[in-house]
Amino acid sequence: MHQHLETLLEIQDLKSQKTELQDTETERQVQEEVFNISIDDALDALDRKVVEMEESLPAPIRSRYNRLAKRYPRVVAPVIRGTCYGCFVSVATAVSSDAGRNEEIEYCESCGRFLYLVD
Ligand SMILES: [Zn+2]
Repeated sequence: MHQHLETLLEIQDLKSQKTELQDTETERQVQEEVFNISIDDALDALDRKVVEMEESLPAPIRSRYNRLAKRYPRVVAPVIRGTCYGCFVSVATAVSSDAGRNEEIEYCESCGRFLYLVD
């Protein structure tokens, strides 16, 4: 898989982990009591890691990422059977073909999200 695509997926994963930590108030108490950890520290650590990873992206990818991140919670959309699951529009066959699968950074022409081929 393309290195930057992998980074984008990891950023997305860290962000959804953060949302999950923020959203589950009961779970949060349990975790703090049982594991004696501060969720706020964990959230800070996630934020720092996300920033670090964002900064590792080359400028053109980062600027697209920044634009997308303002609009969408998820900036990488899976492509299943030729359809972008961000906006449910068919993507160009060149993009969805198996040649060089996920080895290039591809964008959805409709919603602009980064594409990740699932099948
Ligand atoms: Zn799309």
